[in-house]
Parts: sequence; C-alpha cells; structure tokens
Amino acid sequence: GGDDLRVTSRPRTEAYQGNAATVSSYYNSRQEVGVTQREYSPIIGLKKFNNWVKSVLIGKFVGGERPRPGAKVLDIGCGKGGDLNKWKVARVSLYVGMDIADVSVDQARERYNTMRGRKFEGFFKAHDCYARPISEALPERYQQRELYDNVTMQFCMHYAFETASKARMMMENVSRYLRKGGIFIGTIPNTDLLLQRLEQIPEGEPLEFGNSCYSITFEERHHKGLYGHAYHFYLEDAVEGVPEYTVDWDNFVSLAREYGLELKYKKTFNDILQEEQGTEDFGPLLGKMGVVNEHGESAMDSDQWEAANLYMGFAFTKVV
Ligand code: SAM
Repeated sequence: GGDDLRVTSRPRTEAYQGNAATVSSYYNSRQEVGVTQREYSPIIGLKKFNNWVKSVLIGKFVGGERPRPGAKVLDIGCGKGGDLNKWKVARVSLYVGMDIADVSVDQARERYNTMRGRKFEGFFKAHDCYARPISEALPERYQQRELYDNVTMQFCMHYAFETASKARMMMENVSRYLRKGGIFIGTIPNTDLLLQRLEQIPEGEPLEFGNSCYSITFEERHHKGLYGHAYHFYLEDAVEGVPEYTVDWDNFVSLAREYGLELKYKKTFNDILQEEQGTEDFGPLLGKMGVVNEHGESAMDSDQWEAANLYMGFAFTKVV
C-alpha cells in the first residue's frame, strides 16, 4: 500500500526487483477494449489461440476427478474476467475471481453482471494472493473446506516465484479450499525453453531474444537458487515491463506435493494443439473461436506461433 509508482516511470533496475505494486499498477493501467477493437489487435490470432488452450484445459478438467455437475471454481489472478464465458460454457455453479489489480477486478465483476444467460453465482475480490491468505478477503461461505472443484491460475502463477514465501503463500491459497479430487489448472511460461534460448546467446551479447511480436530480456545468465530469477517479457499489445520469474519445474512439482497436489498433466501449447485439434470436443472449437479460418488456416503468423509456444499448461489433483 501507499506505493503508487507507475511502471513506466520506474527506473529499470528498480523495476527488475519486482513487487506487488508494480504488477497491480501495470495491470490496472491497461485499457479494457471491447470485442470489436480487440479484432484489430496485431496479435489477435495469438490471443484467440491462448483462449482456445484455456478452453481445452477447462473442458478437460472442469469438476475435478469424477466430475460433479455444477462445478465450483476459484480463479486466482482472474484479471478482467476473460475466462468467465469459458466457465459458463463448462456449466459451473460458482465462480470466485480474485486479482491484485482492483480495476481489473471491477471490470471482471461488471462483465459478470452484464453476462447474458448467466446461471451461476459470482464473487469478485481484489487481493494480493501471493502475500496474504485469501481467507482474509473472502466471506465465510467462499472459504469452506472442500468447497472448490477447480482452482485456476492462467498466465499469472509465475509472478509468485519472486520469493519462496510468495510461492508458498500462493500454493497455500490454491490448495486450502480445493476438495480432495479437485483439480488445479494453469498456464505458465516454459522455463526449460526460456533457459535453453538464454543459453544459446553467445558470450558478451545482450541477454535478449524474441521476434516481431515478443521479446524476453534476462538480467543474469546464471542464477543461484530457485526463486527470483527475473526476466522482462514484452508481448506486443499485451504485456510489457512487468518483471516475471522463471518457474523451476521440479521445484514447483515438489512444492505442490507439500500442499497435497499431485501432477496430472503437463504439456506445451504445441503438444496441446497436436493432441486436441482432432478431437470431437475441442477440434471444432478452433474454428468457432477464430483460431483457424473456414479454410483451416491459422490466424497466427509464425512469429505469433513462436510466442504461443513459450507457454505450457498443467493440471494437479488434490490428493489429501
Ligand atoms: N488470468 C487472466 C487471463 O488469463 O486473462 C489474467 C492474466 S494476466 C497476464 C496476469 C494477472 O495476474 C494480472 O491480472 C495480475 O494483476 C495478476 N496478478 C499478479 N500478481 C498477483 C497477485 N499477487 N495476486 C493476485 N493476482 C496477481
């Protein structure tokens, strides 16, 4: 609190340290654009593909193991509520959305309030889910043991890997009210791939790679320890300047295990596409969501496709 520095006015070195104020002021400052204006985004194909991948994860894992009808879902880092409709299609009965950026949370609530044909309960709350227990921000009825069938963290979990204590608080919040057999899903950058690309940079060259739609800049080539390995991710018309942190996969899996979560699914976006594009459930969605046109051609150019493949999706089952 009290820190209202703008990302853009922050000196580079300071921005790299990363903190909650940077992240929230950045996401708060981003304009909500309507569906029509969104069509003109230079990375519209990539955005649609990311949405398709999220729909796949939601469709595959909604309701948890032995899915219960009318799933209850907790969306941590919900942003502007861009996944509300996907969860509606998945016939949830409760959607609780939390995010550190209060302006985004207001937009998510507004989106929920104006949704057509909505048949589920919604609750929205601004909260730093990596620094504080979510119980502090949720009414009693939304913090019951075994309440949620799913917890979802889309394109946001990596921000927690700044420090061990943030990552642990995040995991605690994910696991706490997830039922046994419930499933935690998410999408994060593929750290192995990022580090491979970093390694390929010749000595003495800037620690940067990318193409026309994205760039990634690392601070240090080698980082000791499992947390706080920062990089800057710039994605055209989407994110810029917010420090992100590599997620050491093995460390994440063992951390998750400490919180009663067992790895169920881990795939790059490319593998998800290869596996699901021919399925009855998700193949036709590619056209419906505009990822491919009526001729089956991709809406992404090769640079966007490369950016899309920086990410991977995962699912963990709550076992205890
Ligand atoms: N999940 C949404 C989606 O898929 O469209 C938003 C993704 S956006 C790239 C990352 C989100 O993480 C932002 O809305 C940001 O405010 C949120 N975030 C970052 N740090 C957070 C924290 N400590 N607690 C809650 N949300 C956080």
